[in-house]
Amino acid sequence: MKLLENKNTIITGASRGIGRGIAMYFAKLGSNVAFTYNSSAGPAEELQKELEAEGVKAKAYQSDASDFDQAQEFVKQVLADFGNVDVLINNAGITKDNLLMRMSEDDFNRVIQVNLNSIFNMTKAILRPMLKQRHGSIINISSVVGVKGNAGQGNYAASKAGAIGFSKSMALELGSRNIRTNVIAPGFIETEMTAKLDEKTVQGWRDAIPLKRGGTPEDVAGACAFLASDMSAYVTGQVLNVDGGMLT
Ligand code: NAP
Repeated sequence: MKLLENKNTIITGASRGIGRGIAMYFAKLGSNVAFTYNSSAGPAEELQKELEAEGVKAKAYQSDASDFDQAQEFVKQVLADFGNVDVLINNAGITKDNLLMRMSEDDFNRVIQVNLNSIFNMTKAILRPMLKQRHGSIINISSVVGVKGNAGQGNYAASKAGAIGFSKSMALELGSRNIRTNVIAPGFIETEMTAKLDEKTVQGWRDAIPLKRGGTPEDVAGACAFLASDMSAYVTGQVLNVDGGMLT
C-alpha cells in the first residue's frame, strides 16, 4: 500500500513551483488531489491530467485563497466532489519585496492577505468537516524568512511569522479532535521564479548553504508527505525547516 493511499488532499496554489511539486509527489504516493490556482488556467489543466495519469482523482479549481467567500465555496465544492478532506496544505503565496522606505500600504496589505489571511480562510472553511470526522492534518508553508526576518521583505516575513503563530495556536485548539497543525519553513527552493535570477548571485546563495545546493519542490514535498501521513501521528505544533541547514 502506498503511503498516502485513500487520502484526499487540498493544496492551494499548485499550478506551478512548490505546490505543483507537492501535488505530483502526493499523487505518486496515492493521494487524491484537489488544488487551486489563481490565474494559471492552462498549467492547472495540464497538472490535473498529469495527476490523473498517476491513477488518482484530481481536480483543479480557480479560487483566490485570499478571499474568504471563495475559500468557503471552494471547500464546499471539494467536499461535494471528493467526499471528505484528510489533508490541507496552505501553500499559495506571493512576494512584493521592498525596503520599508519604499513599501506601499497596498503591497504590505496584499502580501498579508494572500499569505496569511488565506490560511485563516482555508482553515475556517475546513474546520467543521475536520472536527466532525475527528482527524486531519493541516500543513502551512511558511519560510525561513518567517523565522529569522529578511531586509526588504518586511511584509513577507510578517506574513510567514504570522503563519507560524496561527499554526501553533491551532495545534493547541484542535489537538483534542485529532487535528494536527504543522509548519514547513523552506529555505531557498529553486523554481521557475528563481531561475530568472542572476546565476552568480544564486551560486553565492548555494555556497552559503551547508548542503551546498538550493532545495527542490520535491524536497519540500517529502516533508509534507511525512506530516500528511500517519508516520507523524504524534507530531503537531512544529516548525520543520527544509533549508539544507541554512538556519543552523
Ligand atoms: P510560485 O512559483 O510563485 O507559485 C505560487 C503559487 O501560488 C502559484 O500556483 C499561484 O497561482 C498561487 N497563488 C498565488 N496567489 C494566489 C491566490 N491569491 N490564490 C490562490 N493561489 C495563488 O511560488 P513558490 O516558490 O512555489 O512558493 C510556494 C510557497 O512556498 C509560497 O507560500 C512561498 O512563500 C513559499 N516559499 C517559497 C520559497 C522559495 O524559495 N521558492 C521559499 C520559502 C517559502 P497562479 O499560477 O495562478 O498565479
